[in-house]
Amino acid sequence: MLNERTTSRIFQYGTRAFVLILATYLAVLHQIKGVLGAANAHVYCPFGGLESLYQFLAAGGYIPKIMPATMILLLVTVILAIVLNRAFCGWICPLGTLQMIFDRIGRFFRIKKIRVPDQVEKYLHYLKYVGLVIILYFSWKIGDLVYSPYDPWAAYAHIAAGFEELYVEFLIGSIFLLAALIGSLWLPNNFCRYFCPMGAILAILAKLSPTRIHRNADTCINCKRCDRVCPVQIEISTQPSVKTTECLSCGDCVAICPVENTLFYSIRGKIRIKWLVYGVATLVIFFGSVFVTQRLGIWKTSYSSASEALMDASGEKNPANIKGSLTLEVVSQEFNVPLDAFIRRFNLPVDVNPAAMLKDIAHPLNLETEDFRLFIEEYLEKGEAAVVTPTPEIETQPTTEQPAVEPAVPTPTETSTIAEETSAEQQLDIRGKTTIGELLNYGMSKEQFKEITRVDMPEDQAMLLKDFASANGLDMETLKEQLIKALQP
Ligand code: SF4
Ligand code: SF4
Repeated sequence: MLNERTTSRIFQYGTRAFVLILATYLAVLHQIKGVLGAANAHVYCPFGGLESLYQFLAAGGYIPKIMPATMILLLVTVILAIVLNRAFCGWICPLGTLQMIFDRIGRFFRIKKIRVPDQVEKYLHYLKYVGLVIILYFSWKIGDLVYSPYDPWAAYAHIAAGFEELYVEFLIGSIFLLAALIGSLWLPNNFCRYFCPMGAILAILAKLSPTRIHRNADTCINCKRCDRVCPVQIEISTQPSVKTTECLSCGDCVAICPVENTLFYSIRGKIRIKWLVYGVATLVIFFGSVFVTQRLGIWKTSYSSASEALMDASGEKNPANIKGSLTLEVVSQEFNVPLDAFIRRFNLPVDVNPAAMLKDIAHPLNLETEDFRLFIEEYLEKGEAAVVTPTPEIETQPTTEQPAVEPAVPTPTETSTIAEETSAEQQLDIRGKTTIGELLNYGMSKEQFKEITRVDMPEDQAMLLKDFASANGLDMETLKEQLIKALQP
């Protein structure tokens, strides 16, 4: 028969594993289904609600990627901290669970834990409060999730998006993630202790909580096992109750204490709360709120339409809200930018699949979703002029990797087909602003080009024909005529 502590421990580990698996599943689902199919990881992070709080209170809206469900989770987490101290950290937070797993791996391999000198540890704790102030200041000022690129949880949630997206959007977050996990082999819960901004706000709120770990000095045998196991280096064995709100409510000390009922959760040291009851109460408050708000119809995690996903707080569609998981077709329709403009601007194949996600179109061509965002901004401002003046740093050469779309440069056999499909006006529309890439798309081979110009075709496909002509002392009009003649069937 399992005793109370073992049952509580199993229940706690089960809960943490369940939340971690659920959070991982939801994050992967978002990568597969895209922004309209499944909510992004920020929606389920209460800290996103805190970043959106100013916007919410001032304008009744949300910063991009945040939904009503995030605000509900924030409210529930605040209530949890006030009632049950840092139960969110000890029972729910999946990043805390990941660190706990690495801590246990370290223990399994008998890796000696680092004990930071108490004075240093005390000051290191302040780092997260400084971080919290900076993040909130910029989030509220800019109206965006400024912490996201540095957030190890956001990095974890985007692992399924692939290395490229992690590298481009979450490089620092990935470094923090690796440091938090690998570091936990020696320094348990190091991210919680020193850097987590959510932990900082919960520690502040937990000061209001009547719930603490208490120690019965009469039965304590002063073995100090609790001190040694505590992941935040709290000296429990010398005090009647754990006053510091750096305590993660993880229960490790309760689990290890050899004398039953010597360490326990309690309300102001007067009412003892069984560990299992503490866990059940945590789950009831947290998941019960989700259930109730779902039934009330106010729990909302994803966008009902692309238009909604693209809107900012003012109700305007904003290219900055374009996600790589939106399709080319959707983006084209929502911003009234013709598909053809994308094809010409990025030298996409004429038969590019409009139902493909932007990130899947972009990556094989060494592009980023950001390139599409910038182009749309430019197109909305300049119209067609944005199509013929590509951003110089954008390289549109396909990589050697097998692309999700057909290569931009047609093979000789494809040339005639594409040339036939391309309108006569397009075929002959060779001007000074025509790019080398467009010539390739029209079917011009490098050999033909060299035969006409006596110069190798430039590698830079964004180069304008007029710049090429002037750099090589060629008459633009003559060159234009020769190129048109060579392209005619
Ligand atoms: S005092 Fe106990 S419950 Fe709090 S962090 Fe340390 S081991 Fe966990
Ligand atoms: S583990 Fe229990 S008995 Fe040992 S010092 Fe801590 S409270 Fe006392």
